[in-house]
Amino acid sequence: MMISVRALVLLGLCQVGRRSLASGPELRDPPKRIAVVGAGIGGTATAYFLRQEFGSSVKIDVFEPGTVGGRLATQNIGGYEYETGGSLIHPLNLHMKHFLDKLGLSQRTNLPGKMAIFDGKEIVFEESDWFVVNFLRMLWHYGFNFLRMQMWVESVLDKFMRIYQYQQYGYSFTSVEKLLHAMGGDSFLTLANQTLEEAMLEEGFSQNFLNDVVAPITRVNYGQSVRISGFAGAVALAGADSGLWAVDGGNKKVCSGLLYHSKAELIQARVTTISVKQRQSKAGTTASLYEVNYVGDSGNAHSLYDIVFVATPLHQGKSDLAFPGFSPPIPSHFPGRYHQIVTTLVHGRLNMSYLGISENPDAFTASDVLTTDAKGSVINSLSSIDPVIIPPGYSSPPASADSVWKVFSSQPLSQEQLQGMFLSWDSTAEVKWLAYPHYSAPRRAAPPFILHDRLYYLSPVEWAASAMEMSAISARNLALLAHHRWHSLPGRVDQEDLHTRLRGEL
Ligand SMILES: Cc1cc2nc3c(=O)[nH]c(=O)nc-3n(C[C@H](O)[C@H](O)[C@H](O)COP(=O)(O)OP(=O)(O)OC[C@H]3O[C@@H](n4cnc5c(N)ncnc54)[C@H](O)[C@@H]3O)c2cc1C
Repeated sequence: MMISVRALVLLGLCQVGRRSLASGPELRDPPKRIAVVGAGIGGTATAYFLRQEFGSSVKIDVFEPGTVGGRLATQNIGGYEYETGGSLIHPLNLHMKHFLDKLGLSQRTNLPGKMAIFDGKEIVFEESDWFVVNFLRMLWHYGFNFLRMQMWVESVLDKFMRIYQYQQYGYSFTSVEKLLHAMGGDSFLTLANQTLEEAMLEEGFSQNFLNDVVAPITRVNYGQSVRISGFAGAVALAGADSGLWAVDGGNKKVCSGLLYHSKAELIQARVTTISVKQRQSKAGTTASLYEVNYVGDSGNAHSLYDIVFVATPLHQGKSDLAFPGFSPPIPSHFPGRYHQIVTTLVHGRLNMSYLGISENPDAFTASDVLTTDAKGSVINSLSSIDPVIIPPGYSSPPASADSVWKVFSSQPLSQEQLQGMFLSWDSTAEVKWLAYPHYSAPRRAAPPFILHDRLYYLSPVEWAASAMEMSAISARNLALLAHHRWHSLPGRVDQEDLHTRLRGEL
């Protein structure tokens, strides 16, 4: 009987006590103080997993100058809060699910809506209420490409899910490449090093299908074309699966919940520099500690830590942390840039003629309008969205009525452009993000997870793909890695062939 990797993983996650170290080697004392720089989902999940790994005695400080949540953020418009950054979570994102259970939060299911595709001039595809109609339309236009795409994404997901099993058993990896290889072998590295377009053409998908169906998905999820790397592309395509959800009350509640649960202290300050200091103990031995310098409302200060995690991207425009005195030097900014996405919320009425609909606007009922990669295309997507707390009796308004629309574009929208898209509006709000890496293939080598002996860096995982779950996976990986390296347990680091070895253990 075939049993899928997913079933094995879920089975594995249900088994407690797999990682018992009771019979393991004598462990040295845990670290006394750990710093985490950044309180997005990555930093707060790191604090949560560190508490699990190192126990209750370690003091964990999390530095954050802005709002807890980072790229998970909401904005008030028309009296309700709406997600402006990371908004949707895949049903198989097991860390995010686990956080919800642990924190007593609940899912806000994405209310059902229909999708349409706009080519810059007119709507070229509109989903029907009827599954059979959609199926036949897709079959007519693209043969079995659509079904095959679902199967292709499933096969990538099946391998991706192995990471949960490895982490459940306590295994960790020292680089993004090793992590990818452990999940999907050479096929994942190949996928990461070719464009999504190349990977899918090689698999026999048609160029038309790529232009008409795949590009709109990569545009809405990463603001980029089908020439993003194949791995990021597969993650983007999984983001078009059914059953996506969000957190009731706003996704950033997970971050504040994780901070609280980990009993970490939030220090509202911006870290400016991290350097190494030698300290002499009373016994005459020297130990090296990290000095974290920061600036907050009450001015400059610094503290010493045994271990430090940087949980914010070290790229131009994202942060300005400096690492003086390290040899070899640690750059403030690694090569590669982050892609700008502008989120514009508009509480107003859509102008159907912008979408090329001149007759019977009430008949247009799609809530998500994706766009093809047409030249001169101003927007990446246009979606009617629901508030983060759904009021009792609420139902999504029809596309032709007043509602809150979220527009993704690469540049801010001018008044003229807004006037073209909307007949009228009460209010608008704009948030500019350096949202996710600018993906290209062959993929740029990801920066290292280990910047120095006990100085770790979380965000390199985004160069494989950026998503809340990817930051959570990186957080667990680095908490495990820091634990194993602190206690000198190399047997759980960078192990080869884990998939085959663990299969025997289940
Ligand atoms: C518009 C948009 C849409 C998205 N959609 C989705 C989606 O639907 N689903 C999904 O899974 N993902 C989505 N993502 C991606 C997802 O939001 C990110 O991958 C994830 O939130 C990254 O979390 P992080 O903690 O790693 O980084 P961040 O959230 O960026 O956190 C880093 C934190 O570090 C802080 N910081 C920076 N410098 C310093 C310093 N010097 N000292 C102290 N703190 C510092 C920052 O203020 C920030 O709070 C989207 C992102 C955007 C922008």
